[in-house]
Parts: sequence; structure tokens; C-alpha cells
Amino acid sequence: MRKNQIENTTFAIEENQFALTIVRSHHRRRSISLAISPNSQLILRAPFKTNTKTIENMIKQHSNWILQKLSQLHLIEKTKQKYEVAYGDVFYYLGQPYQLKIIESAVTKPNCALSIDALTVTIKPSQKPNIRQQEILKILTKWCCNQAMEKTRERMLFWSNVLNVKFNKLSISRATKRWGSCSTINNIRINWRLIMAPPALLDYVVVHELCHVVHKNHSERFWGLVASVMPDYKDYRRTLKKPEWNSILY
Ligand SMILES: [Zn+2]
Repeated sequence: MRKNQIENTTFAIEENQFALTIVRSHHRRRSISLAISPNSQLILRAPFKTNTKTIENMIKQHSNWILQKLSQLHLIEKTKQKYEVAYGDVFYYLGQPYQLKIIESAVTKPNCALSIDALTVTIKPSQKPNIRQQEILKILTKWCCNQAMEKTRERMLFWSNVLNVKFNKLSISRATKRWGSCSTINNIRINWRLIMAPPALLDYVVVHELCHVVHKNHSERFWGLVASVMPDYKDYRRTLKKPEWNSILY
């Protein structure tokens, strides 16, 4: 896989300077996306050959949204409030950015729907912002867990065949720190947050836990087994330590 090109730069909106990370990727990306993480980091993703002019235009077009979002984050910082998921946030699904859309509807059942460039969350109308926020997070997390189960089950079957390893039971975990685990009786748990990551990372965690069926430790033989089917595993391990795709759901 060819590496992304990462450029750290700055840009100005109304005489304010902001730091910006531009990620140009070889990965079949066709559109430009802009994301602001809860720690006020701006990340712009673009196809590899995008020129600076196009990027400048993109930022100019979205300058109001950027300013609004940054001032909101600044306020959150000061008052120690929790980050709020809102319309226009970038949501990562299988490593690709989608725009998050939130719709309030009294007639449609609460749900999530993925389209080519957006994830639409439909919730019941609510007057209270905290209830609204809870509702969004609940529906979004539930949707992610279902997607994670479906996708992970498929990858577990694939990799257990490749490794010729049998596991007992698969479940989706809601842990905040661990990406996966394998119990003494070979029950495997995979973190639902991996559904937001590029598919190679979910594959890595699946392979890692399946290798624990054979070796219940992190010995050289364990890593040897991982490397035998996934020679690039060290890259994936590194990326998992600093995920940039789970910014809105911790
Ligand atoms: Zn392990």
C-alpha cells in the first residue's frame, strides 16, 4: 500500500491563523473532506493530486463552519463540557469520511442510514439538548455495533480459514481502551469502534485475537504467526495507537 502524503501547514480566516493537516491519499478517494477533531485539530483529506488552490477554495467555502466549530470547541474547553455530536461533523465508517446529518422526525422511527457521502441519524424531536444528544449517541452507537457485528463476523470467518484456527464465540465489546480480547475458552470480543477504522485495522485486530487461540501470550511465536498472514502488522499496530477516525465517538 502506498503511503499517504501528510503536510502540516497553516491558513488564515479573518486574520486568525489556524493549524491544518492536509492528508493526500492514494486510496481510491474522489472527494475532499474537512474534519475538526474535539482537540481543535483540522484535518483535510484529499485525493493525491489535489492542488493547493483547490484546497484553499475548500477552506474559504467552509470558513464560517470552521469558525463556528472552533469557537464551540473553545467554549467546551473552558467549561469542561463534553464534546457534542452535531450536524456537519465528520463521521468515519470503514475509514472513509461521511458527513453526519441529524434529522428530527415525529413520524419516522429513530434510525441511521448511510448514503454515498452522508450518515443520516433520525431522532424523535426533543426540546432538551442533553436528551437530544443522548438520543443521537444511543442510535449512532447501536448502529455501529450492528455494523461491527456483521462486518467482524465476516472477517472472522475469512481469517479463521486462512489461519486454520477455530474460535468459540464472537461478541462486540463496548470497552473504551481495548480493541479486542480472546478468553481462555476462546471467546473473542472485538471493539465496535473498529467499524470506523480503515478495514485493514479491523482485519489486524481479528488476526491478532485469532492468533491468541493458538498462543495465549505475546511471545515471538505469537507475533510470528501474526506476521505469517499479515506481514504489515506493525504499521497497523502503530496506527491503532493514534486513531484519528474515532474523533466523535469515544
Ligand atoms: Zn494480544
